Amino acid sequence: MRLSRYFLPILKENPKEAEIVSHRLMLRAGMIKQQSAGIYTWLPLGKRVLDKVNAIIREEQNRSGAVELLMPTLQSAELWQESGRYDAYGKEMLRIKDRQDRPMLYGPTNEEMITDVFRSFVKSYKDLPLNLYHIQLKFRDEIRPRFGTMRSREFLMKDAYSFDLNREGAEHAYNRMFAAYLRTFSRLGLRAIPMRADTGPIGGNLSHEFIILAETGESEVFCHKDFVDFDIPPADSDFNDVAEMRGIFEQWTSRYAATSEMHDEAAFNAIPETDRLSARGIEVGHIFYFGTKYSEAMGAKVQGPDGKEHIVHMGSYGIGPTRLVPAIIEASHDENGIIWPKSVAPFEAVIINMKAGDAACDAACEKIYGEVAKAGVDVLYDDTDERAGAKFATADLIGAPVQIIAGPRSVANGEVEVKDRKTGERETMTVEAAIARVATAN
Ligand code: ATP
Ligand code: MG
Repeated sequence: MRLSRYFLPILKENPKEAEIVSHRLMLRAGMIKQQSAGIYTWLPLGKRVLDKVNAIIREEQNRSGAVELLMPTLQSAELWQESGRYDAYGKEMLRIKDRQDRPMLYGPTNEEMITDVFRSFVKSYKDLPLNLYHIQLKFRDEIRPRFGTMRSREFLMKDAYSFDLNREGAEHAYNRMFAAYLRTFSRLGLRAIPMRADTGPIGGNLSHEFIILAETGESEVFCHKDFVDFDIPPADSDFNDVAEMRGIFEQWTSRYAATSEMHDEAAFNAIPETDRLSARGIEVGHIFYFGTKYSEAMGAKVQGPDGKEHIVHMGSYGIGPTRLVPAIIEASHDENGIIWPKSVAPFEAVIINMKAGDAACDAACEKIYGEVAKAGVDVLYDDTDERAGAKFATADLIGAPVQIIAGPRSVANGEVEVKDRKTGERETMTVEAAIARVATAN
């Protein structure tokens, strides 16, 4: 992508409304634009990151055996009357009427709708286990939308729903998703700690929130400090192997880690004092086993191997991609801007032409740009006629992991500088070596 043809509305000033660093940087880097309270446009740079986050989520969901579909944002109130949540859900639900005066709503979540899909088609235990997911916009009329897309009213969620014949099967589905979440967050460059979470009025069930430690986080967390450093299940884990999944799950849940609602002083104090960690964090995912709550109310049942009808056991599993993007920034930035992990960087490399219009600089940059792009690397070429200083600032702000800097003096020797955004290290090398560095790292 040539910057001269791109749409990158960088802000020079620090936006006053932004209270936390990720919000400030997302606005300054031209990633998002607020349209009204808690409702955002994802500008091209932000959209690139969001797409990469979604692609990783999707790959890990698919690997774990979940199957993607797409449900609508608008739902009929009738479904929610069946489950009893139409009245129970408070003002967070945006209620709408269509021209026939039929009550509709903008979905805050999809348990009812997926249960309706399930009951329409699945009649036999032979079609289980089943896990269906989508990545779709949600709307919750949050009382205090804030911190940009961290807590917005319209936001993207990956929500998966598992269906099993009994509790044992549902627990296996839960453990698979647990392993998939560990892998997902790790690939996003994050350490998200699974914390025991409140299961609400249903009680007695399984629930974990995945939390990233951050001072600006809205959740309070308590855990063993070793939880911050851990092993991630490998890509070749057998997601169907019940024992393996149980092993991963148990290794993870045997240590103390809880949000404030589930905090148990006595258990926490049993940890040696120097190993206790109490901190703040950002909830980026939430998994939940809730048994037959919706399947019972909505008649989702299958014929079992015994020939009798069984109400299916369900779980739901959410991840917030539009919250993950600022969470990654909270975890990875410096005073000059964002430092993207390579896996989600909007551009893996930026080429900075320090003297656009200079024949030698232009030729070197064009060569690097052409070859690196041909190798399949997402590369941004700053071919504008801005001052070199402004180009450096932009490159640092938008956070591409590698910068290739071409100025008249080095280019005269057939060389360019390669800067690592994270460490700030600069290395002079030939044009060919710079191409190889960026192209083969892919
Ligand atoms: P919170 O406690 O932060 O309000 P929640 O518990 O209501 O979140 P869930 O219903 O568990 O959220 O939704 C699953 C995921 O969706 C969350 O883990 C989070 O990543 C994301 N999410 C929820 N609400 C928002 C929001 N208002 N803005 C952005 N992402 C959100
Ligand atoms: Mg939650």
